[in-house]
Amino acid sequence: MSRAYNFCAGPATLPESVLQQARDEMLDWRGTGMSVMEMSHRSDEFVEIAETAENDLRELAGISDDYAVLFMQGGASSQFSTIPLNLLGNKTSADYVNTGIWSKKAIAEASRYGTVNVAASSEADGFTTIPDQSRWETSADAAYLHYTPNETIGGLEFDFVPDTGSVPLVADLSSTMLSRPLDVSKFGLIYAGAQKNIGPSGLVVVIIRKDLLGKARKETPTMMNYQVIADNDSMYNTPATYSWYLAGLVFKWLKARGGVQAMGEINLRKAKKLYDFIDDNDFYANPIDPRFRSWMNVPFTLGNDALNGDFLKGADARGLLNLKGHRSVGGMRASIYNAMPEAGVDALIAYMAEFAKERG
Ligand code: PMP
Repeated sequence: MSRAYNFCAGPATLPESVLQQARDEMLDWRGTGMSVMEMSHRSDEFVEIAETAENDLRELAGISDDYAVLFMQGGASSQFSTIPLNLLGNKTSADYVNTGIWSKKAIAEASRYGTVNVAASSEADGFTTIPDQSRWETSADAAYLHYTPNETIGGLEFDFVPDTGSVPLVADLSSTMLSRPLDVSKFGLIYAGAQKNIGPSGLVVVIIRKDLLGKARKETPTMMNYQVIADNDSMYNTPATYSWYLAGLVFKWLKARGGVQAMGEINLRKAKKLYDFIDDNDFYANPIDPRFRSWMNVPFTLGNDALNGDFLKGADARGLLNLKGHRSVGGMRASIYNAMPEAGVDALIAYMAEFAKERG
């Protein structure tokens, strides 16, 4: 059976060579007589797997020793509460930028722990654009500013890193991590659920500037205390070992392909092709301000919603899977993360052209 092109937003397609390596190592990891899944997380073998993954991620993303890298559980969603619990410190409020569904979820959760000041929002514009930073109403005593660089559902992506001066910048990079170069030194904290560009679900990567550790509120659950997780090399309890191992294989794959610089060039090319096609074809539409269109998640609608079912059926038959848009917005969405080959985007465009010609 040949592999399909899977456009799922997450869990998302993984590089085929990574899956092959995982298959080859499944029953007997390098002569240990067991799979990585069955290893003690405290064994020399697993500790080496874990450390190698962290070092490769540090190299890929350019993460200096000023930052701790944590491999946590609970998905990106658990970070929505972990962040305020750890970073509010003795302050009572934080700034949030509202650019879509994931920002809103982060805001709702943070509101349980302190005052959220929504410094900017594009809700009135249907989340189709990013408010210019000159119009943001930040508060002077905010503990941090949180934003979502890429809204996975809306397909809206920042093309700039906000300047927050001395206020720590916190970013939910779940759906754009490692997709292009990023200056980590501008951030106080970055987090990303793994199941898009990093590996399987079950893992959330947190990159935190070390001076922000040690500020957790007293009532913070131990498992959510960044200081505890950092002090224990992310092994305070049993980590998601297999996901961590697979993330390590993905990092090796990324390095072999030229890292985030090369990936960024490929991703830009893939996204541009698809948006250009949508813009040039009257049957398809994407509502996002062209400057802020996501490189990773491309939502689009058909000229006639009644054809959505037929479009998806035809796509499935061609091995173009999971193109149905999020239930909250409808239409279609093609997620084209690092592991989606350019040939997958070409195949999608060819099908879209054919469908529009026949049915449009
Ligand atoms: N933030 C963003 C930007 C996401 O795309 C997602 C998942 N789609 C989440 C948070 C939630 O991630 P998780 O399911 O790992 O909690």
